[in-house]
Amino acid sequence: MSVQSVFPQLEPLLPRVSKPVQYVGGELNATVKEWDSTTVRWALMYPDAYEVGLPNQGVMILYEVLNEIADVLAERTYAVWPDLEKLMREHGVPQFTVDGHRPLGAFDMLGVSFSTELGYTNMLTALDLAGIPLLAADRTEDHPVVLAGGHSAFNPEPIADYIDAAVLGDGEEAVIEISDIIRAWKAEGRPGGRDELLTRMAETGGVYVPRFYDFTYRPDGHIDTVGPNRPRVPETIAKRTTMDLDAWPYPKKPLVPLAESVHERMSVEIFRGCTRGCRFCQAGMITRPVRERSIEGIGAMIQTGLAASGFEEVGLLSLSSADHSEIGEITKQLADRYEGTNTGLSLPSTRVDAFNIDLANELSRNGRRSGLTFAPEGGSERIRKVINKMVSEEDLIKTVSAAYAQGWRQVKLYFMCGLPTETDDDVLQIAEMAKNVIRAGRVASGRKDIRCTISIGGFVPKPHTPFQWAAQCDPDTIDSRLRKLREAVNSDRDRSLGRNIGMRYHDGKPSIIEGLLSRGDRRVGRVIEAVWRAGGRFDGWSEHFSYERWTTAASAVLEPLGVSLDWFTTRERTEEEVLPWDHLDSGLEKNWLWDDWQDALDEREQDDCRWTPCFDCGVCPAMGTDIEIGPTGRKLLPISPVGVGSPVRNPALSAP
Ligand code: SF4
Repeated sequence: MSVQSVFPQLEPLLPRVSKPVQYVGGELNATVKEWDSTTVRWALMYPDAYEVGLPNQGVMILYEVLNEIADVLAERTYAVWPDLEKLMREHGVPQFTVDGHRPLGAFDMLGVSFSTELGYTNMLTALDLAGIPLLAADRTEDHPVVLAGGHSAFNPEPIADYIDAAVLGDGEEAVIEISDIIRAWKAEGRPGGRDELLTRMAETGGVYVPRFYDFTYRPDGHIDTVGPNRPRVPETIAKRTTMDLDAWPYPKKPLVPLAESVHERMSVEIFRGCTRGCRFCQAGMITRPVRERSIEGIGAMIQTGLAASGFEEVGLLSLSSADHSEIGEITKQLADRYEGTNTGLSLPSTRVDAFNIDLANELSRNGRRSGLTFAPEGGSERIRKVINKMVSEEDLIKTVSAAYAQGWRQVKLYFMCGLPTETDDDVLQIAEMAKNVIRAGRVASGRKDIRCTISIGGFVPKPHTPFQWAAQCDPDTIDSRLRKLREAVNSDRDRSLGRNIGMRYHDGKPSIIEGLLSRGDRRVGRVIEAVWRAGGRFDGWSEHFSYERWTTAASAVLEPLGVSLDWFTTRERTEEEVLPWDHLDSGLEKNWLWDDWQDALDEREQDDCRWTPCFDCGVCPAMGTDIEIGPTGRKLLPISPVGVGSPVRNPALSAP
């Protein structure tokens, strides 16, 4: 049965809301397929505002992969702002996709990509607006299967009651496999209803269906057991790993936002995974091993993507882009290829070394020299050993001096506060480091007007990392350390230095809630629902986040169960404790993670397995994968200048 667009009901509401253009769709490279010509229909959601969600690579890749299959349709949906939500409720307009403006409830699958746990309340808004029961147990065959993906899916327990399934790891191949399962189940006349469909997904070993697993708890609140409650489903669920990135050159046609968005450029993922081993970094741990895209693959994606989108800037993305084994050749050859055109190239530069400056210089041949960003992450040498960030202050000073000497005027440094074993002194050393950076920069450049911005985030221990056992620092301690740091930066003695140092940080409260949602178990689900019912929306936005709403809900829901917000966050775990994600297999051996946690406490570092022998983290044997790196020695051919004299422009981007 055909499904009607809700646009006629939505359109009269749009003049009454902020940024209405974000709801109209029709972006360059958007796809709207005939509903009736397809068998399997996906709605893909990024649970944040359009301006944040549209550039998301994960959603963009899956959207294109799915729409390339003839009988599969995929459309996008984003969180609607509270002003539109209110009007939609008043006028009975359901949550819709921005492509066909079709109601979410009509789709077979609703895939939600979570980069952060603070998007959970936005998923509940979308489900409710769509008329989809919040609790998975209340859904019938007529409702979409709600599937969580993204990094947060590595511990989806806090939303286990609200999702039907989760996929861990890379989604490209998983969404095709799931589409095949739905197609076959429909062709057979939907045998066994929703339960059988979910069982078939779970049987693959790579789709987690929370309701097929039961938890039991001990009187002291700890998890006692977790395991499957029926046959045909595996004990543990494995993450997905796409090995050959060149075989998956997506997005080929990047979406071009209609409204202002956080990144107005095309991005090319130059490799996936990271084995640097920063102990706080969940992204690095769960995406192992390293898999590089070839230099030709990168060149071809840029050429195709620019022609299809008209973007004028390309970001070379990955968790640590300067670590690509052929990054020198890639930047040089791309800079040659695009010299004299309108195309700018950028590399998120976080590695602290002179080589990184060379790369930045190469890429900025064609454009402005604005700012360089480095991530020492910890203020003292000691804490950097704890977190396995092998950077000495001497390296940093050398690197930034080189940058200032070569004409860069602005350096940004990223740090974290609240790291395991951290003291006030570790944080205060950030001020010293920033002042030394300014001093060295003045000498190197011969100028006084150089700037250094320090940006500080609250550390949140994450599942599947060596810090998964750590006690999270309480918000009062974080706030007090940051206050002392500000005073140290502005101290009278060094006023002329302090004036050139910018400091950005958030208070520690959102981090503790993120901590609850990151390491929580199923009991935390009712806290999320209570917050949502009390008006919680857009919790990742400081202007919408209410700490009090979360603490009130946490007390009401958790304390009768004998646990609390503190129990889930500021409590250190023991080696024996059953963790809520123990049945979800990221490939990392729990023993290896524990040993690495002990090494952290002993301030012992661990090398990168790309350049040293394998140290048996477990991923490669468990997942049947291997490190895939160059150098291949291949060249970016043909080296034909692209766009000279006739840069491809997108009218949407040049509009006033
Ligand atoms: S198994 Fe060995 S080679 Fe593979 S990611 Fe782990 S440490 Fe590196």
